[in-house]
Amino acid sequence: MKRNAVNGTTAVGLAVAVLGGAKLRRGRDGIIVAEGYRRRVPPATCFTVGSVIITRRSADWLLHEDRAGLFDHERAHARQYALLGPFFWPAYWVACGYSWALTGCYGTRNVFERRAGLARGGYAERPLRPRFTRSPATGSRSRDAGSPSPR
Ligand SMILES: [Zn+2]
Repeated sequence: MKRNAVNGTTAVGLAVAVLGGAKLRRGRDGIIVAEGYRRRVPPATCFTVGSVIITRRSADWLLHEDRAGLFDHERAHARQYALLGPFFWPAYWVACGYSWALTGCYGTRNVFERRAGLARGGYAERPLRPRFTRSPATGSRSRDAGSPSPR
């Protein structure tokens, strides 16, 4: 995706990959796969920065046909970077905060994750936290902190 080379996000992705000890491999559709990422943050198996999909696993694992849905999910994020450039980051974090507040999961109500495909990205649809729903019987509100999604 050439727009991510121009908007600088792929350069950031390459830097994150190299600093994380990952090796660069050719992906497909203009995507670079960085395999063997070793830092703890973020905890996801795969994440995308610009046109670089960074994974803790091997490029062969990600590019295997069994992971076609996951690859498509991450490639959708690369397209989001192509649209927004560096503005992707603040927009994405606002979307994460919104989703976290509503559900306790940063992906479920995150517009970027929904558009990339929740299930393909390993996210489950999650209900709203109880404080955002009223019990029809009592009209009372309850609080529940929820728990973070592993991805
Ligand atoms: Zn995603």
